[in-house]
Amino acid sequence: MLDRPHPPSHDLKTASRAPLTDPFGRSISYLRISVTDRCDFRCSYCMSEHMTFLPKPEVLSLEELDRLCTAFVRKGVRKIRITGGEPLVRRDITSLFAKLSRHLESGELEELTLTTNGSQLARFADDLYAHGVRRINVSLDTLDPQKFKSLTRRGDLEKVLHGIETARRAGHHIKINTVALKGLNEDEIPHIIEWAHDKGMDLTLIETMPLGEVDGDRMDHYLPLPGIRDRLEERWTLSDLDLNTGGPARYADISETGGRIGFITPLSHNFCASCNRVRVTCTGRIYMCLGQEAFVDLKEPLRQGASDAALNTAIERAIGRKPEAHDFTIEKRRAGPAVSRHMSVTGG
Ligand code: SAM
Ligand code: SF4
Repeated sequence: MLDRPHPPSHDLKTASRAPLTDPFGRSISYLRISVTDRCDFRCSYCMSEHMTFLPKPEVLSLEELDRLCTAFVRKGVRKIRITGGEPLVRRDITSLFAKLSRHLESGELEELTLTTNGSQLARFADDLYAHGVRRINVSLDTLDPQKFKSLTRRGDLEKVLHGIETARRAGHHIKINTVALKGLNEDEIPHIIEWAHDKGMDLTLIETMPLGEVDGDRMDHYLPLPGIRDRLEERWTLSDLDLNTGGPARYADISETGGRIGFITPLSHNFCASCNRVRVTCTGRIYMCLGQEAFVDLKEPLRQGASDAALNTAIERAIGRKPEAHDFTIEKRRAGPAVSRHMSVTGG
């Protein structure tokens, strides 16, 4: 059981490691890794109703995931986010958290976090806390049970709310992620913010991204966040925060609710210059940019018994190919999504 909230940020071991730096001088300190492409929901903007999931042998084993994460930690990654698909539907997932917690204990890793749809959170909240997880992002796009069922095509809002409460009671800091969807939840957004802030949870709004084929046209529900922000400012006082997490979110405080709101506008380029992250899929591909198709395969070296040195070289080669900026756009004229893989494969 880890009872320290967070281990100290620096120790000798870490200081001696050469950090991963890309060709544009950005240090890579943040890894998001998808542990499965499967999910118990089928959110309409993320997946199609009838998804073909990857054959199991293509997905990295928990041991392989641990080895890969450990290699990144040795290369100076300070924060790991476990994502998916739905990470909590992966069999025996707690054993991965248990293994990775050794890096928190040693102080090499600053944070181990999770993004989840919350459906299984009640079951896992205590174990996650015991393994050093302190902050969890829960995706929630509506507080209306019927709408929730239809948006997720199978989710039970009650279970998710119960999961959130259980996790809060266990001591986790919960942040809510809400995808802004035209005609689906746009009128509900102020209410969801009030609900979250009332419980002391920050909330981040996300624009839909053109990742993977879904049923229908994503553009029908694409809602640019600047317009949403204008509407929120008609009702509340928003003060921008000078907080840069190295990602596409910009944050503001809302005086009236006393909470914080984030805006993730991935289609803009204003965050690429400070990007500090890479993503690894559940099949062991490292994508240097969410909005580009270029990847380096790490599964083959892993499965061919590569030494730690060879694995490090593969990781360094990948970082050496990190592009300066993404190139996706969302537009009617496109025949398909800008990037063919689903968010559930790359990990959100
Ligand atoms: N299943 C977990 C969940 O829903 O939180 C983790 C994986 S999910 C792919 C991670 C995040 O990506 C969620 O907040 C989800 O709303 C978001 N997401 C999925 N597809 C997206 C898309 N096409 N555009 C924008 N956000 C998306
Ligand atoms: Fe599943 Fe998350 Fe995608 Fe929804 S957003 S279908 S919960 S992976």
